[in-house]
Amino acid sequence: MKVVDKTGKNKKNQSEESNPDQSHLDKKYFIDEYVYNCPFCNRGHVQYRCVAQFKFNWSKRKNCYVYFVKCLSCEKISMHLSKKNIVGRIYRPNTRTTYYFFKERLDIDSNMFSSVPTSFFTVDNRIPEVTRELLTEAEGCLKMNYLTGASACARKAIYEFTREQCTEGKDYEEKIKSLKKRYPSSDPELFDILAHIQGMTSDKIHEQSWPKWDSARLKLMLETLKTVLYDIYVLPKEKKARSLRIQKLKEEMELDKKQETSERETEEAES
Ligand SMILES: [Zn+2]
Repeated sequence: MKVVDKTGKNKKNQSEESNPDQSHLDKKYFIDEYVYNCPFCNRGHVQYRCVAQFKFNWSKRKNCYVYFVKCLSCEKISMHLSKKNIVGRIYRPNTRTTYYFFKERLDIDSNMFSSVPTSFFTVDNRIPEVTRELLTEAEGCLKMNYLTGASACARKAIYEFTREQCTEGKDYEEKIKSLKKRYPSSDPELFDILAHIQGMTSDKIHEQSWPKWDSARLKLMLETLKTVLYDIYVLPKEKKARSLRIQKLKEEMELDKKQETSERETEEAES
């Protein structure tokens, strides 16, 4: 059975969904051409509108498209860069307004190489700011296939991460290995991948002497780093918050019990 939602799109009935787990959508910036995860009000699946678009010359041969997107909840506007023209437009003479809309069935995230602000949903904002911004920049460069820039940002992100963690060890490999011991609940293989990155030094950044990494190596490295950062900075805080919620519920239950007992005792005393 097909149902029609507010946007007029045909959507499958929930019960028909073979894979009901849609949690990967929470980690995106744009979910589809109607809803996104707003980086300002941190609301997930909120409606947005593309309010303006411009084209400029990135270089003699390359064009760049700029999109301005407004959250329909908090009304704040974010800016997004793409090397492709991915919006259509309609001019409505009665309101004298041009409406922009992202083309249907498009993975909008993979078409944007940079967004301001970056999203809390794509790289969690509990990860320290410097590392988070370098990581986002590396991912943006990778989307544009700027491998030198992506490699430099990825290296700096790892360097900042080890610095922020005050790691011990005489060289890069030892420092990463010290983290493997410090965080035994994380998958040790993740640290092994990071430890064996070619040409990585932790003491100084000699950008000229760096070989650029290929796209596959960069993707593996960034995904590994993101997982390690999530394990270290996000997961413990989420666990703590969950424990606090449980603790609060237990306290409320104890309080209810006490109240019930005292009410019963009063009733018994009265009778
Ligand atoms: Zn918002």
